[in-house]
Amino acid sequence: MKTIRLKPGKDRSLLRRHPWVFDGAIATGGADAGETVRVESHEGQFLAWGAFSPASRIRVRVWSFDEAQRIDAAFLRTLLARAIALRTRLGIDSDGLRLVHGESDGLPGLIVDRYGDTLVAQFTASGVERWKAELADALIELTGCPRLYERSDTSSRKREGLAEATGWLRGSGDTALTLNEHGWRLGLDIAHGHKTGYYLDQRDSRQVCYQYTKRLGFARVLNCFSYTGGFTVAALAGGAGHVTSIDSSGPALEQAAANLALNGFDAARATFMDADVNASLRLFLGEGRQFDAIVLDPPKLAPTAAHAERAARAYKDINRLAFKLLSPGGVLFTFSCAGGIGVELFHKIVASAGLDAGVDGPIVQRLGGACDHPMTVNFPEGEYLKGLVIMKSS
Ligand code: SAH
Repeated sequence: MKTIRLKPGKDRSLLRRHPWVFDGAIATGGADAGETVRVESHEGQFLAWGAFSPASRIRVRVWSFDEAQRIDAAFLRTLLARAIALRTRLGIDSDGLRLVHGESDGLPGLIVDRYGDTLVAQFTASGVERWKAELADALIELTGCPRLYERSDTSSRKREGLAEATGWLRGSGDTALTLNEHGWRLGLDIAHGHKTGYYLDQRDSRQVCYQYTKRLGFARVLNCFSYTGGFTVAALAGGAGHVTSIDSSGPALEQAAANLALNGFDAARATFMDADVNASLRLFLGEGRQFDAIVLDPPKLAPTAAHAERAARAYKDINRLAFKLLSPGGVLFTFSCAGGIGVELFHKIVASAGLDAGVDGPIVQRLGGACDHPMTVNFPEGEYLKGLVIMKSS
């Protein structure tokens, strides 16, 4: 077993059970990609077992803080079983759910989503890459799902020095699937869609959007960054008169239109725009258009804290425009999925967008990722998705 010795004083974060060791913290030691290493303090005290990533700034990701723990297929299977059992207990009202959420489930770099009887996995770090076959076998056995598709085409994989890998790991067949979420039917494609095919983390917020629509009876809804129309379907199901959906991805909008048909909604109640959101908001403003509810769910504008300042301006701009486009008493559902922008900073950005727009209104609800995307207190990086529901004063 190879040993990684840390520099003096660099044991603090592992002692607090944070699961990463950065390259700058290491004094001596090295190993092959994904190899299990023993991490010790400068004084030689055992700290953790982890997986080595020679090409990444995150040089070691922790498997266990227990010196007696053997890191083998049986151990990984136990971690998977625990993650899956948690979701079973949560009793989520959807057949699309996240079974494994990386570090938060003790499995750094592994994402597993379940869509009906199909699993989709992302292996984004050297450790889980090395154990891919064992993890795949255990996932099939524990879930009873016959098929597992790999979507290891993330940018984080590049930072690990790993090539993209996509395709069936177990089973085969059609990659176009239909998911049931809150009683709505949503088509998706696990091979060509974003992430593993769908934004499961926004499940609860789509339900919230449905509830507000039902209670407040929005006539005109604007869904910005709509992807395949999850919020569009939610608003229509809640009785919205008309929903305009904007996204820059043509295939996502085609799927969104198909999702409307799948739920039996009249096509006349929806407009789809293949366009840039920022430009469209300015256009609407010029035309004097107004909306009773606006959803703003942009992609990650700040991947790390280093990008936060530029991203803050971009978030502020779209929020300012949205505030102006809201009718009096209208509702804004605004989100950020950027890990580099914390909850407090996001609140400040949105507040200052409101000030600039000359719009006042209370925050009536705070939103976050769905419960199958858990966080742990020792891993703050796991918190990324936050949202606000703001009611414009009339
Ligand atoms: N709300 C969606 C998820 C949105 S993900 C859901 O619930 O499923 C962000 C989306 O923004 C992606 O679909 C991406 O294609 C789109 N996008 C990214 N940049 C854009 C831009 N400048 N203008 C319009 N859409 C954009």
